[in-house]
Amino acid sequence: MPYNPSAYPIIDHDYDVVVVGAGGAGLRATFGMVQNGLKTACITKVFPTRSHTVAAQGGVGAALGNMAEDNWMWHMYDTVKGSDWLGDQDAIEYMCREAIPAVHELEHYGVPFSRTPDGKIYQRPFGGHMRNFGEAPVQRACAAADRTGHAILHTLYQQSLKYKAEFFVEYFAIDLIMDETGCRGVIAIDMATGQIHRFRGHQTVLATGGYGRAYFSCTSAHTCTGDGSGMVARAGLPLQDMEFVQFHPTGVYGAGVLITEGARGEGGYLTNSAGERFMERYAPTAKDLASRDVVSRSMTMEIREGRGVGPEGDHIMLHLEHLGADVLWERLPGITETAKIFAGVDATKEPIPVLPTVHYNMGGVPTNYMGEVIKPLPGRPDNVLPGLMAVGEAACVSVHGANRLGTNSLLDLVVFGRAAALRCKDTIKPGTTHKPLPKNSAEMALSRLDKLRYSKGPLTTAQIRKSMQRTMQNDAAVFRTAKTLKEGLDKMGEVAGTLKDISVTDRSLIFNTDLIEALELENLVPCALATIAGAEARHESRGAQAHEDYPNRDDVNWMKHTLAWVDDKYAVKLDYRPVHTYTLTDEVQYIAPKARVY
Ligand SMILES: Cc1cc2nc3c(=O)[nH]c(=O)nc-3n(C[C@H](O)[C@H](O)[C@H](O)COP(=O)(O)OP(=O)(O)OC[C@H]3O[C@@H](n4cnc5c(N)ncnc54)[C@H](O)[C@@H]3O)c2cc1C
Repeated sequence: MPYNPSAYPIIDHDYDVVVVGAGGAGLRATFGMVQNGLKTACITKVFPTRSHTVAAQGGVGAALGNMAEDNWMWHMYDTVKGSDWLGDQDAIEYMCREAIPAVHELEHYGVPFSRTPDGKIYQRPFGGHMRNFGEAPVQRACAAADRTGHAILHTLYQQSLKYKAEFFVEYFAIDLIMDETGCRGVIAIDMATGQIHRFRGHQTVLATGGYGRAYFSCTSAHTCTGDGSGMVARAGLPLQDMEFVQFHPTGVYGAGVLITEGARGEGGYLTNSAGERFMERYAPTAKDLASRDVVSRSMTMEIREGRGVGPEGDHIMLHLEHLGADVLWERLPGITETAKIFAGVDATKEPIPVLPTVHYNMGGVPTNYMGEVIKPLPGRPDNVLPGLMAVGEAACVSVHGANRLGTNSLLDLVVFGRAAALRCKDTIKPGTTHKPLPKNSAEMALSRLDKLRYSKGPLTTAQIRKSMQRTMQNDAAVFRTAKTLKEGLDKMGEVAGTLKDISVTDRSLIFNTDLIEALELENLVPCALATIAGAEARHESRGAQAHEDYPNRDDVNWMKHTLAWVDDKYAVKLDYRPVHTYTLTDEVQYIAPKARVY
């Protein structure tokens, strides 16, 4: 039945810029816009300081050189290498160079960083951070104890309030408003009242975070449901490099909650059931601080070969007890608490049981280094779609390529949030009149909302979500094979098919979490499909994609970005787009692919 538009009266808003999301990326973009004189709305489904950024622990990467000599070009080299040569080098150059002013800016805004004895920002070692083009580890992760994300998010929120950004809190963005030229804004529902709002903007900035919740065990918040990617897919635009899903080596066994890599940065190490420090075998130089994919795979190998710990032999131990209670309470207080609460372990005395857990999505909405969304056209792979930007984990710039280095996400948020604001300053004249909207501007969003609201199929949202999460966890995991990926792709197709059988029992519009979760599931499913379809098609191993039937990286055929279109029948179409094998300036040279040595 078609929906009745009079059941959903609309309140209209006109802004220069509409930002969707109030995590690190959304907030940095929002107050940057306001600072530049642009009238900006920030829409967020959770209170800003509850965004997942608050959970980031370890640090934000920048070659400040506070502990020993460092250089942004070494940071760039590590990032390209970590990306396994799938990252776009112009964007990586931009990020690593801008990292230094961006972190100083955070310091001046008031982020309470930990300090060295002489008062500089404290920097800890982290996986993959090396000096002099891979020679030896360097301390590059700027940390506020093990609560860096918390410190940054609160500071950015305070700055946003200072600049009087306009917040729409607990508003859920449903769909983009598109016309033949590009994006014109977004339709959202105020979750407390059910009131529908239509936001017009000369730019709409998606800063909606990742989609970890497509998997069963992940470190991300329950709100990380890929809403931006879902909206983009429904707008007929592609998602990029979705097959690259980062597993963090140290999720607490059973709970999935993260123990920061900073724990190993501070001297923590992993052991198997024989008590052996097995990382020395897999990565003789970097050992426990090898990059995340390497450590996750090594742990999985140990478990598979029968050297896992516990009655089921299904996990690994992380030791911190040798660091001493003083160091733990000073440098890692949050995870010492996490270990107690989620594993029942006193980390000052005993090891913590851990397991590789889904942690970060390298893929997302393709953009250039200014945050503008790419809609590739034949012969124009970098064509910009007017009116739409994406920043943060929702975006694929691509600075992380096939695998993200620890601390480069918090950095990505602030650098590209700021870059988006700078781009809007250059391209939008504050107060410019809006063109009339297309007649059906709210139709897609409201017909979908109405259909779900009155759905009465045999399956609950939770049941369908669980089938998706199990499929992704089993078939698109740390190790992948042609067989599991094919089976997983078929199963995900079946799961998507069951969305028409969903039922929502709450028909009201007042804090209808049943309905919101159904909308979120409709966003997660295209993310999951694009992930597994991209993985199945990619016949190589690169970064986070470890394909047992194609164990080598294949730069001749596969050094390219995957593009995935998911249509309204949940069919996936794949295509590819070249990696940027050039830098932004002449100050650095393109870093050609090298074999990986750990
Ligand atoms: C446990 C953990 C620890 C981490 N530690 C580190 C670290 O130490 N260093 C590092 O660099 N990275 C770390 N990361 C990664 C990093 O924290 C995240 O990638 C990053 O914080 C994501 O920020 P974001 O702004 O893109 O999105 P988020 O912080 O996830 O925010 C998303 C925002 O979008 C809003 N939103 C989403 N959908 C909608 C919708 N439909 N309508 C309205 N609003 C919507 C939400 O309300 C929220 O405000 C960690 C990640 C996790 C999970």
